[in-house]
Amino acid sequence: MDITTRFAPSPTGFLHIGGARTALFNFLFAQRFGGKYLLRIEDTDRERSTEAATEAILSGLKWLGLSGQGETVFQHKNIKRHQDIVQILLDNGSAYHCYCTPEELHKMRSKALKEGRKNLYDGSWRDRSPSDAPSDISPVVRLKTELTGKTSINDLVQGLVTVDNEVIDDFILLRADGSPTYMHSVVVDDHDMQVSHVIRGDDHLNNAFRQIQLYKAMDWEIPVFAHIPLIHGHDGTKLSKRHGALGVESYRDLGYLPDALCNYLLRLGWSHGDDEIISREDALKWFDFDKVGQSASRFDITKLDNINSIYIKNLDDEYLIKLLIKELEKHPNLIINTTTIHRIKAGINGLKTRVKTIKELAEISTFYMAKTPLQLDKKARDILNEDAIKIINGLREPLKNIENWSELAIETAIKFYAEKYNLKLANVALPLRVALTGTTSSPSIFEVASVLGWDEVDLRIESVCRK
Ligand code: GLU
Repeated sequence: MDITTRFAPSPTGFLHIGGARTALFNFLFAQRFGGKYLLRIEDTDRERSTEAATEAILSGLKWLGLSGQGETVFQHKNIKRHQDIVQILLDNGSAYHCYCTPEELHKMRSKALKEGRKNLYDGSWRDRSPSDAPSDISPVVRLKTELTGKTSINDLVQGLVTVDNEVIDDFILLRADGSPTYMHSVVVDDHDMQVSHVIRGDDHLNNAFRQIQLYKAMDWEIPVFAHIPLIHGHDGTKLSKRHGALGVESYRDLGYLPDALCNYLLRLGWSHGDDEIISREDALKWFDFDKVGQSASRFDITKLDNINSIYIKNLDDEYLIKLLIKELEKHPNLIINTTTIHRIKAGINGLKTRVKTIKELAEISTFYMAKTPLQLDKKARDILNEDAIKIINGLREPLKNIENWSELAIETAIKFYAEKYNLKLANVALPLRVALTGTTSSPSIFEVASVLGWDEVDLRIESVCRK
């Protein structure tokens, strides 16, 4: 079987992480089995669809490396085709015009709900003669769904799910204004795009039973379905902003790496033994639906942070530095030139092991690019009392005398100085850290001093002693 999958977001909001995970699963499944992964923007709802949301979805997918293959399909361009299919269904007796007024529909619904029925439409116009049609009402077109029997789906995630056809409504294909409904367009487009596997959130499982009715009416091949459980917040309710869940572009702006986010999303609901870090290469070898769980997974930002920090540590340094400089360029008052970039390159190992995101990495790297005198934070200022200043001022001489400026030589000199004056190492190292970095936490102070070079170290010590 030729495999074709598709991701079909509606551009009514930004690409959220649930959508990104659906895209990822579609991508992995198609790629793993040598198939095609397509993208369709479901923008038939012209009022709610926005250009900005489409842009955000496309750029979010691109950033994640999940752009569709071939041309993106914009569903609204297929409206004529959707209408033509409705005409075929009307012609072959599988669909009919319904002239119910909103009041009639409202009554019907209340009655059905009272009687505990799931099909809210009572089929009033199903077999009525067209000669009954009122001339002042524009009709909708409904599909004649099967009244008896059962419909089963052998879902790749949910297993065998069966419903009685009597609960399936004669749903609307075409609205009174001639616009096709989601339920209709999705089937026509999936058929036309030769989608073999429909992989989406399990909130669409109910729709699948309706959609199957349409496939049958058109005598089209029914795709394989895989309805994946939704992502919930830490409290078990549907994921929302309240849980700290953001649009994909916000994760990019916060300094998450696309591969880390994909790794996290992949593990959310899919497993491969106890593996937590799974490269895209391995995911492409291993991904299948047998290891996708049936229960909703919970979004856990701490886990995402953890995975991101591992990806940052393992990233190629040259690329990491590029990302870092780009982020540092957003900070005001920094000196970004060959000298400071050189410092970043020399200090990257000490920096990258201390952060969870690229944004944090930039924050803790600013001291390498800052103008002297540094701005000290409050905690740092409190450290620099009279004694502390005396101690680091006294350190300038031994540091000046170092012949080969290196981490080891600096460490040796500082330890010797502490011993000589009977000082605890911390009482030297901490004020020195404040002088060199403006903060009380940084990579090893010997490393920092070595990276900054003697001139800058002396300048920074002198600048705090002068105050
Ligand atoms: N456009 C629908 C949505 O954004 C998805 C439809 C589908 O995957 O069948 O939820």
